[in-house]
Amino acid sequence: MRINVLGVGFDNVTMDEAVDRGMELLHSPGTHYVVTPNPEIVEVCRENLAARQAVNGADLVLPDGVGVVKGARMLGTPLKEKVPGIEFAAGLMERMAQEGLSLYLLGAKPGVAEMAGERLAAQYPGLKIAGTHDGYFQEDGPMAEAVRASGADCVFVCLGAPKQELWMAKHGGAAGARLLCGLGGSLDVFAGVAERAPKFWSDHGLEWFYRLCKNPWRARRMMKLPLFLVHVQREKGRK
Ligand code: UDP
Repeated sequence: MRINVLGVGFDNVTMDEAVDRGMELLHSPGTHYVVTPNPEIVEVCRENLAARQAVNGADLVLPDGVGVVKGARMLGTPLKEKVPGIEFAAGLMERMAQEGLSLYLLGAKPGVAEMAGERLAAQYPGLKIAGTHDGYFQEDGPMAEAVRASGADCVFVCLGAPKQELWMAKHGGAAGARLLCGLGGSLDVFAGVAERAPKFWSDHGLEWFYRLCKNPWRARRMMKLPLFLVHVQREKGRK
């Protein structure tokens, strides 16, 4: 049973459980995808039915940040813990490396995925980088075909939300990998062109504030955060 936060159903798993589930999916026949919504994406899903369907249609829906965990607690249906997409990805790569599995990196500006690939291959010996491509391709069909041709077991799809969720829902099957993970700006962090908030900020639920200070252009997007809390409060009132 998923935990409903404003129309998005989250899997109630710890980080370790999430990585275990990810590995199970990697070993199950067919194509599966993982999404990691934060409050901003939940807000997008409230307004965009296609995005909501793509998110809820995922095989694993992980609460990316403390905001979603707080929202779930306020609604009286607590989630075990936050499962940040980038940490989930790290856990998955560790296990994939042990098994010699292969990963395709799709997304971010030209050159970033290649750089991320080089760094990840060095960081996770045993992990195979099946291929890389930037996230500004024009045609979906040939892109999915290129991923399939690489024979990758897993694909990190980092096109920003909700583009990556819609892409995985529609083209995941054609891309052929067992598992696709929508991971937003993670390739920028893996490549070293962006940094994550220091632990102090994320431990105190202030990662959003750190990101805002670093990237003031995010202010408009971030207005979705207080809006999310207002909507959770309203939903709580209805219960
Ligand atoms: N991006 C992309 N293709 C697009 C739009 C965005 O590859 O058409 C990339 C962008 O370069 C960045 C990532 O998607 O690397 C989105 O990062 P952002 O920090 O906005 O995502 P978040 O982690 O906040 O969801």
